[in-house]
Amino acid sequence: MKKRLIVATRNAHKVEEIREILTEYEVCDLSVVNDPPEVEETGTTFLENATLKAVAISRIVDGLVLSDDSGLEVDGLSGAPGVYSSRYAGEEGNDALNNEKLLNELSGVANRTARFRCVIVLAENGSVIAHFSGAAEGSILEEPAGAGGFGYDPLFMPKGHEESYAELGAEVKNQSSHRANALKELKDWRK
Ligand code: IMP
Repeated sequence: MKKRLIVATRNAHKVEEIREILTEYEVCDLSVVNDPPEVEETGTTFLENATLKAVAISRIVDGLVLSDDSGLEVDGLSGAPGVYSSRYAGEEGNDALNNEKLLNELSGVANRTARFRCVIVLAENGSVIAHFSGAAEGSILEEPAGAGGFGYDPLFMPKGHEESYAELGAEVKNQSSHRANALKELKDWRK
């Protein structure tokens, strides 16, 4: 029987990607948790925020909890939006506004190289068991392209490709994304 893993996020896209990558686990979302708390991301690093989420949920459920804190670092913007990626334009999780703001901030900026980062934390009974990280290098397009994925996917073109993550689709993205790379570390650790 597959081991159950509860993903401490309300982002259904993240859960789906994690499920497609971690096929050896029964990946569940927060719907299996009774009255999950709203965890405030008060940290200043991906690791701090991922830890807050995993620990808070693991206190109230049995079994293994996984959290994912991730974001986009743009070199020409000194690493912004970084840990503030999901609320870059001021409204939590508004992808369209975030993408619009990113393009505005980058207008006239020559260096459009960027990377996605992902930190994964595993916790159980209120304690961290392990953490993993991954990155995916690329650059920011001049305008959104494609309808797949979420977040900044329509603007992010991974290195070695000529299309955005939103155009490339889940199968290609999940081979080598920041999330896939962090989860590869987890798989190696479990061996
Ligand atoms: P978190 O839920 O605080 O970790 O916020 C992550 C934010 O980073 C998301 O809301 C997206 O804006 C961005 N992000 C993280 N991973 C991805 C990805 O795989 N594709 C596109 N955007 C992402």
